[in-house]
Amino acid sequence: MSTRCGIGYDLHRLEQGRKLIVGGIELPFEKGPMGHSDGDVLAHALCDALLGAAGLGDIGTHFPDTDPKWKGANSMRFLEHAKKLLDEKRFAIEHVDAVVITEKPKLGPHFPKMREALAKALGVGAEKIHLKAKTNEGVDAIGRGEAIAAHVVATLTSR
Ligand code: MG
Repeated sequence: MSTRCGIGYDLHRLEQGRKLIVGGIELPFEKGPMGHSDGDVLAHALCDALLGAAGLGDIGTHFPDTDPKWKGANSMRFLEHAKKLLDEKRFAIEHVDAVVITEKPKLGPHFPKMREALAKALGVGAEKIHLKAKTNEGVDAIGRGEAIAAHVVATLTSR
């Protein structure tokens, strides 16, 4: 059996009048991410971490933002597809560790629901998904509330 790690990162600009969807959950907030899909930074960074660990490229390869098929797409579909690719290559998801960085709103209270949604999309138990929230201490674009970002590390095993 071998173990492999993958890293993923994503950032989206926040604009008035867009829905804020993080980890598959819609949060009550006046701004949301710009993006071709629903702009779910956590799902996108997670997708890249999984694809990276499996040596399967990145989210842009599989879901190009020039393809109208993915316009406004629910990012849980990206994760479901990534999971299918991992299954085909006989990779199992051991653990996911994530940091989501945004000045507002508070994410922690929504983590149980996000973990459930992500775990469901990936067909794993919620105990395998670990989420952390940070602010940027008022510094730079994230600190000014102009953007939201996520970093994810995924660990896979294969036989
Ligand atoms: Mg993205």
